[in-house]
Amino acid sequence: MKSNIGVIGLSVMGMNLALNMADNGYKVSIFNRTTSVVDKVMEEHGHENFIPTHSLKEFVDSLEKPRRIFLMVKSGAPVDMLIEQLIPLVDKNDIIIDGGNSYFKDTIRRTKYLKEKEINFLGVGISGGEEGARFGPAIMPGGDKEAYSYLAEIFEKISAKAYGEACCKYLSTDGAGHYVKMVHNGIEYADMQLIAEAYTLLKRVAGFSNEELHNIFEEWNNSELESYLIEITSNILKVKEDNKYLLDIIMDKASQKGTGKWTNLEAIDLGVDISVITAALNGRFMSNLKDERIKGERIIEAKVSKLEDFNIGREEFVGLVKNALYVSKIVSYAQGFKLLSVAEKEYGWDFNFSEIAKIFRGGCIIRAKFLNDISDAFKEEEHIDNLMFTKFFANEINTRLTDLRELVSIAVQSGVAVSAMTSALEYIDTYRTSQSSANMIQAQRDYFGAHTFERTDKEGSYHFDWTASEKN
Ligand code: NDP
Repeated sequence: MKSNIGVIGLSVMGMNLALNMADNGYKVSIFNRTTSVVDKVMEEHGHENFIPTHSLKEFVDSLEKPRRIFLMVKSGAPVDMLIEQLIPLVDKNDIIIDGGNSYFKDTIRRTKYLKEKEINFLGVGISGGEEGARFGPAIMPGGDKEAYSYLAEIFEKISAKAYGEACCKYLSTDGAGHYVKMVHNGIEYADMQLIAEAYTLLKRVAGFSNEELHNIFEEWNNSELESYLIEITSNILKVKEDNKYLLDIIMDKASQKGTGKWTNLEAIDLGVDISVITAALNGRFMSNLKDERIKGERIIEAKVSKLEDFNIGREEFVGLVKNALYVSKIVSYAQGFKLLSVAEKEYGWDFNFSEIAKIFRGGCIIRAKFLNDISDAFKEEEHIDNLMFTKFFANEINTRLTDLRELVSIAVQSGVAVSAMTSALEYIDTYRTSQSSANMIQAQRDYFGAHTFERTDKEGSYHFDWTASEKN
């Protein structure tokens, strides 16, 4: 009997996805470049639905047609190398699926290359880490729609479920799935940075203990902020080792694997402001300058205020932080979805934002209750310019914006850097300004470079001889 699907790459993600598929009743062929790993997996996690294979040919021959070959290997060159090895072994209309964190432009290139050989290629973003892979990840599939129809049932079965729906929906052609995953990761950076800023304000400005902070975050997890990241933050705050809070002895240097960087580079390429996500990335860069920050604290003196200087109680401060966090979170999602809407036009995709928000509701790191609100808002107002302009979110922002402004102002005067929250406030203020300062930029450009400008009082393009008066 042939297998329904095959998985190549049996590291953390591939092995757990294969087990997930096998648990769901599918016969799964498994293969790994280092073939001893296949035997190890069979020894340690052997599943009755696994068919172990020890060469690519044996692997390909073990699959029913059209073959479904799921690659879960290191992104980059390994994916291209595997594709080259598979081409002579597969038949027309077989489907190669790349479930790794591939760069979307590589996925576009691979799709085109394989299409010329009449082989289908799907680029699929998978989120949720080891646990998600094993018991239900969020799945973001892109590629040929007809080829996807051969995977829809398997993907929907193995994916996380949220509110009774599978966290998996076909997105659009070629690189769309990996693109959405990339933006998801950017939003994840922003979500984490905003929570870290809320924590640091409560700790450093208001002096809350870890136990109190644990309770605050636990309470927030029963509000509009309910989410996986708030939940784990609350849990982290109470963990002790040798009678010390573990969090307090963790070095304040944050690492990264690069997908947040991709999101930012892409936003610059397309000319989209994703300042909250950028602030989150910069926050990680700056965190790594630990030695320089220690020097900075000594060298650069700042006269800063204390919470007592603001005539605000501690409980009231908690309320400000909560509202500021929520509004900033809305802005980071608004920026992520704005990037998707520009990318949709740039790359010829056809996104359904309401459905994308639904995919994020389960399995992945950014899963949160308010994704239901995002999904509903986009469903109601599909072609809106920005998530912030939807009736629901405009109201959420309008009723809390003063709190964000007050909080950022307190943070600035207290000398506590909250770049992501500040960026969120500035994004809102920039968006709600009908008269920007760009008239001055245009005048300067025309002055030194004759770059011309448009006028508000008449149509057309103009150049002015700015130095004429100096010459006279
Ligand atoms: P790794 O990214 O560490 O990749 C290891 C696997 O890639 C091994 O099976 C390895 O085989 C295989 N591999 C490496 N080079 C080659 C090659 N040239 N030819 C064939 N196989 C090769 O594994 P993960 O499970 O962590 O991740 C897999 C993919 O999923 C990656 O793209 C990752 O970015 C993505 N991802 C990971 C998540 C996570 O939480 N870890 C979450 C979501 C996505 P060998 O044993 O022979 O070295």
